[in-house]
Amino acid sequence: MDLWFTEKQLPTVGLSCRVVRTLEVRQTAYQHLAVLETEPWGRMLVLDGMIQLTVADEFVYHEMLAHVPLVAHGQARRVLVVGGGDGGTVREVLRHPEVEEVVLAEIDPEVVEVCQRHFPETAACLDDPRVRLAIGDGIAHVAEHPDTYDVILVDSTEPVGKAVGLFGESFYASCRQALRPGGLMVAQTESPFYNPQLIARCHVAMRQAFGNARLYLAPVPTYPSGLWSFMAASLGPDPSVPAGEAGGTPSGLRYYSREVHRAAFVLPPFVHALLQGE
Ligand code: SAM
Repeated sequence: MDLWFTEKQLPTVGLSCRVVRTLEVRQTAYQHLAVLETEPWGRMLVLDGMIQLTVADEFVYHEMLAHVPLVAHGQARRVLVVGGGDGGTVREVLRHPEVEEVVLAEIDPEVVEVCQRHFPETAACLDDPRVRLAIGDGIAHVAEHPDTYDVILVDSTEPVGKAVGLFGESFYASCRQALRPGGLMVAQTESPFYNPQLIARCHVAMRQAFGNARLYLAPVPTYPSGLWSFMAASLGPDPSVPAGEAGGTPSGLRYYSREVHRAAFVLPPFVHALLQGE
């Protein structure tokens, strides 16, 4: 039988691929979860009908979410990942030897458990002694940990359900309080083609909380429109500038490099315009 999965990305647009096998389907306390073996993307994690990762292209998203702020900071010792229960972002953070502890604040323990079984390439790292799992709402975790982290990475689902609050000014202000001097935060902020208003709102909110906000872009083929955005705010270092020497940058990466880091902050005019509310 020829089975297909379609993510309805817009009311009139979908991304479809062939399903070779269904590995897991369940309703958790927070969301509908599926793990599919697909062609051509390989294993895929789907939450509430939306693709969260595929083994074929997750490296772009996870490398760009983690290495841009960590390399810009240069000496982060404590890092918080909010969401990110698949472990891909934590895996990238652990490539930095200066990091002593990574806390994963994921609301849904079933995402972690399912990913540990089906996605060893991203989730095996969660057994690393430098990783601490903090199962619970990331919003509460951030509020309860002032002056704690050097870098905060918001690896959230789309702004629905429990993730809505991760895209607002009060959460960004709370992140600012949770950062140590010279700290940075980055949040995934969806597609400039399909979510321009959300990006514009997050930009205003982050600037209100931090006094600055910088957007950068990367291609993620299985995310809506294929072009993804990340928003960075800082208490010191310029997020667009890789710190230190090239030798201190993790090696063996497939998308991130110091050149890609700088280039990702060069925005096309239509993205500049949406940040200026035009
Ligand atoms: N890379 C993905 C993307 O952009 O589509 C995100 C992947 S990760 C699986 C997203 C995680 O955020 C989910 O596992 C979800 O349970 C978690 N999440 C959503 N809201 C949260 C909250 N308020 N606190 C902590 N985790 C949250």
